[in-house]
Amino acid sequence: ASWPHSGAITVQNLEVKYAPDLEPVLHHISFSVEGQEKVGLVGRTGSGKSTIALALFRFVEPSDGKILIDEIDISSIGVEDLRTRITIIPQDPILFTGTIRSNLDAFAQYEDSEMLESLRRVHLIPSEEDDEETTSFSGDNINLFKNLDTPVSEGGKNFSQGQRQLLCLARALLRSSKIILMDEATASIDFAMDEKIQKMIRTEFADCTILCIAHRLRTVIDYDRILVIDRGNVMEFDSPYNL
Ligand code: ATP
Ligand code: MG
Repeated sequence: ASWPHSGAITVQNLEVKYAPDLEPVLHHISFSVEGQEKVGLVGRTGSGKSTIALALFRFVEPSDGKILIDEIDISSIGVEDLRTRITIIPQDPILFTGTIRSNLDAFAQYEDSEMLESLRRVHLIPSEEDDEETTSFSGDNINLFKNLDTPVSEGGKNFSQGQRQLLCLARALLRSSKIILMDEATASIDFAMDEKIQKMIRTEFADCTILCIAHRLRTVIDYDRILVIDRGNVMEFDSPYNL
């Protein structure tokens, strides 16, 4: 797990089409994100934000240009390998049917104590320092996540969207992912939960590169830089202060 060690991302001249006969949805875009940088990705619906995420994960292959992570062209990395080394947190994560444990540790690699620690760090298990507000992260049943054998029903429907995102973040902590791409939940999620997740990203993921697709500028206003995408082009890439 030595790559990526810094988590720098360089997008060079990237063009993406969803089919050879379709118009490109990303028009030769270029930008670089430093290791450990926190970047908010904003833009209108259909502007190409999720497509950037898909390209980073090689769910779509570029028709031109490339993406480098710590100087390595991701097209030279096996797809499965790539996807274990960076974490994507979708808007509405699907969990596996099973238990909390099987969702955190599909290959039985981790100790229970490590899993419990990661759940504590994302506040699904309240820690002693947690105030009442943070404790409410885990919802009404605060004992749910203390038991790693708590069942997860199909898709994870017995958990809220926010809880499922937090569980994905706990998994990212276990794997020591250096790059996390988060597709922020839509307006349906409560803003309080949203703010808590953002605050937690700041503290627990300080040494990770974070790309967060946000629907409101407000969500990512304390990020290092904001990348504004418009119709498949980079419009701005600057600190929120300068925008
Ligand atoms: P939103 O804010 O609504 O999530 P977005 O910025 O993430 O939007 P994308 O999902 O990246 O936008 O879509 C960019 C463009 O690519 C849109 O015009 C969309 O219609 C098109 N597109 C997305 N997915 C596909 C697909 N599977 N096949 C064909 N076109 C697609
Ligand atoms: Mg999208």
